[in-house]
Amino acid sequence: MTKNYCKFWGTRGSCAVSGESFQKFGGNSSALEIRYGDTIAIIDAGTGIRPLGQELLKQKVRRIELFLSHTHWDHLIGFPFFDPIYEPGVHITVWAPPNIGRTNKELFSDLLAPEFFPVRFDQVQATLEFKTIQQKTPVAVGPLEFDFHITNHPGITFAFNIKTPHQTISYCTDNELLQGYHDDPENAPEELTQLHQSLIEFLKGTDILIHEAQYTPEEYRLKVGWGHSSTVNACYLVKRTQASQWLVTHHDPSHTDEDLKVLEGELNHYLKKQQIPCAAQWIGDGYVLPLK
Ligand SMILES: [Zn+2]
Ligand SMILES: [Zn+2]
Repeated sequence: MTKNYCKFWGTRGSCAVSGESFQKFGGNSSALEIRYGDTIAIIDAGTGIRPLGQELLKQKVRRIELFLSHTHWDHLIGFPFFDPIYEPGVHITVWAPPNIGRTNKELFSDLLAPEFFPVRFDQVQATLEFKTIQQKTPVAVGPLEFDFHITNHPGITFAFNIKTPHQTISYCTDNELLQGYHDDPENAPEELTQLHQSLIEFLKGTDILIHEAQYTPEEYRLKVGWGHSSTVNACYLVKRTQASQWLVTHHDPSHTDEDLKVLEGELNHYLKKQQIPCAAQWIGDGYVLPLK
């Protein structure tokens, strides 16, 4: 494998799934590994972080930067199953959004409360260092720079720009575009579109956009306010970021392999019809994006 890459260990949104209808895209919830030389960063600790942790232990990795887009279950529930936390000598910096009413250390401690899990927080062997991320306050991790912007999602949720010395990769898994709007996005009223302008500016010019498109337009009619975009509404943002490569992740747990293939075909047809020069690719667990 190339030395620099992003590997998607979990591409399912909201809830992990399994079964014969979920073989191609997989069922683990959000976890993205970013390798750049010796730097190892992870975004989100959904169930996909469990097999990633096994791999990191095999490779005797000692230093991990773990970023969280937010702390909803599908982005956090894999943490107690992340083997490196039980390994003495491992140092994990947890970069998380400010939480409401308690510190991130308290939140992680609660995640390992006796009501939820058999192992206590004080039995964690790795050194955990908690740091808070803030909008448009970039942090450097080795040769990478991570920057953050709030999305339209319940609670405090961040989108990421990850700058390598050669590229920018943008990661935004939970973002509801044009909330409650069901017509042609190009005709959306200004009071809806202005809400997204700052995020669009933040993502503009990215080399690779990773963004959700969780619902069909029909499904979205029943899911307004749940924090996710319809395929068509997501195109409003994609067009304005001028991205030419769009990787779609955070798939709805009700969508089978077959459903996702159909969605991919339909949305690419829509992009062409709208003359948006961007290809959308639905990616699954295990997908590797090589980095320059
Ligand atoms: Zn999510
Ligand atoms: Zn969420």
